[in-house]
Amino acid sequence: MSNLIALTNAKILDGTGEKPFDGTVLIQGKSIQEVGPKGSVNIPKDAEVFDLSGKYLLPGLIDAHLHLTGFRSGDTVKESLLVPYEVLVARVVKDLEALLKAGFTTIGDAGGAIAVGIKKAVEEGTILGPRISAAGYTLSQTFGHGDEHYLPIDYVDPRESKFKTSLGSLICDGVEECQKAARYALRCGADFIKVSATGGVLSERDRPEYTQFTIEELRAIVQEAQHAKRFVHAHAQGTEGIKNALLAGVKVIAHAIFIDEECCRLAKEKDAIVVPTLSIVEHIMVYGQAIGIPEWGLKKCEQVYEAHVENIKLAYKHGVKLATGTDFLGGAKAFKHGDNALEMILLVEKVGMTPIEAIVAATKNAAEAVGLSNITGTIEPGKLADLIVVKEDPLENIRVLADKNNIMMIFKEGVLIKD
Ligand SMILES: [Zn+2]
Repeated sequence: MSNLIALTNAKILDGTGEKPFDGTVLIQGKSIQEVGPKGSVNIPKDAEVFDLSGKYLLPGLIDAHLHLTGFRSGDTVKESLLVPYEVLVARVVKDLEALLKAGFTTIGDAGGAIAVGIKKAVEEGTILGPRISAAGYTLSQTFGHGDEHYLPIDYVDPRESKFKTSLGSLICDGVEECQKAARYALRCGADFIKVSATGGVLSERDRPEYTQFTIEELRAIVQEAQHAKRFVHAHAQGTEGIKNALLAGVKVIAHAIFIDEECCRLAKEKDAIVVPTLSIVEHIMVYGQAIGIPEWGLKKCEQVYEAHVENIKLAYKHGVKLATGTDFLGGAKAFKHGDNALEMILLVEKVGMTPIEAIVAATKNAAEAVGLSNITGTIEPGKLADLIVVKEDPLENIRVLADKNNIMMIFKEGVLIKD
């Protein structure tokens, strides 16, 4: 049997931001062998041909910042303490399937215990899901955003705790402890290192504006990542924390609620990527109360919501590289994995991006943000054949990418997942 597939007559949106063109993609095995305008690609006789006339062909979508927690409500305290770990893992299996079927062929897990292990089950084909780039445990200072200080202290750090849950952080203070924690995260299999450089919304006693870690501590963590040919992804919401992270050499800035002009300039100069995660903020605003987000989280979210959108607009205007990430945790109503195309919609409708820019944010830029731009994110020869076929024109209406009935075919590494 031949392992050649030809996708012909499609309108190709290759993820680079170029205008769509009518053309053919030839897949051999796992990879894209050739891409070209109509008539330019020689289709071998033994190739299986799919005629995609009138349909749109895009790279598989990428969510560069989410968490595979297995949570089903917004009550992070209850979910962490009362749901058995095995149940959380079983729910994650379902979430991975939902993600893939929504057209997400790659995800970045920005902190947690499950993704870094379960990725092997996806790779070996035991379960269905997107390719996973995972941080493993987040690094947090004592009384930091990741030091889930709404839980008793002995529950948080997996190095000390007998209690297993899907979040958890490596608590470290001072340069030496930060080095050790970064090395521990790498030892656990981290593809990149996640650090909390500021307080946040869903951490009870701190605030997004609070600066966490010193610049020396952040530098030490970045250095450990770089020694192992990896990069750092920082939760950074307050202006000073964002700036510290950028100066320390952090590659990916998540949330960026209070990003200012100076930070925008720095981000461009350093070729950093901002992942705004507008989706989680939107969902907390709409569903927060109904799904049991603690009162302190709701209040802080309301306080920062408008500034967040305004400041991301500023970053967009400055030409800062933006990538999609939802920060979804899994859920029954909100934060649900499978609904992750929402971020593209918000980038268009709230920030003012064009649909093609939002698609680049969800493909090329998101691939870079998870460290996999060498193998996925664009439709180019040599890259893995991660592709989706869409019925309606996403450039007319970005919302069609959130409609699962519209996504007609999904290929992951050349394998047809949905037809
Ligand atoms: Zn997050």
